[in-house]
Amino acid sequence: MTTLADRRIGRMEFILGLRRRGIADAAVLRAMEEVPREQFVRDEDVALAYADHAMPIACGQTISQPYVVAYMTERLAVEPGHRVLEIGTGSGYQAAVLSRLAASVVTVERYRTLAESAREKFAALGWDNIAVVVGDGLAGVPERGPYDRIMVTAAAETIPRALVEQLAPGGIMVLPLGPHDSAQIIVRLTKAPNGLVRENFIAVRFVPLLPGKAREL
Ligand code: SAH
Repeated sequence: MTTLADRRIGRMEFILGLRRRGIADAAVLRAMEEVPREQFVRDEDVALAYADHAMPIACGQTISQPYVVAYMTERLAVEPGHRVLEIGTGSGYQAAVLSRLAASVVTVERYRTLAESAREKFAALGWDNIAVVVGDGLAGVPERGPYDRIMVTAAAETIPRALVEQLAPGGIMVLPLGPHDSAQIIVRLTKAPNGLVRENFIAVRFVPLLPGKAREL
């Protein structure tokens, strides 16, 4: 069992650990500090909520490793007025972090169970600038776009064209790009006047971005 004091220490070490690993953006660190990660993991994992690990959640999916959440968020360069789209709600943790930095977040999940559970968490926190949509993230949510920033949190084997279209001019998309059965790389795409500018970053492992809404649940 962990006491509240233990958890507070855990949270301080959590932020220090992110800084040690090179996360330098003060707004990103503040957002990571603000989101109670213990509310986004399974009950049995609460004691490990601030360890730097990915963890299993419902529907065979995972909540990403905090370092990767912070790293991708930093690469996304979110500004306070931004409208952000996230693909792959999962636990809702990444969307919650983005919601502390942006004006609004639309997040898409193919499992209804995960979407509903994330919605409940945001409501409990009183955070009302996050809209959760059940659907196929590969198609994006064109009716709410264009978006200043798009983050994909499941591995894409190719650049999802519909998402590029929903990116505002000058907009930035960050995604894990590569094969489903091995490591992917974090890629940043900037929608410049002459086309997409691509930058490659660290190697990661994400669950696959799958087409269509999930059949079960
Ligand atoms: N961002 C999440 C981690 C998500 S894991 C978090 O912070 O917890 C990736 C999620 O993407 C899974 O929940 C999976 O169901 C979802 N996913 C995969 N393909 C999808 C698609 N085409 N559309 C929407 N969600 C998708």
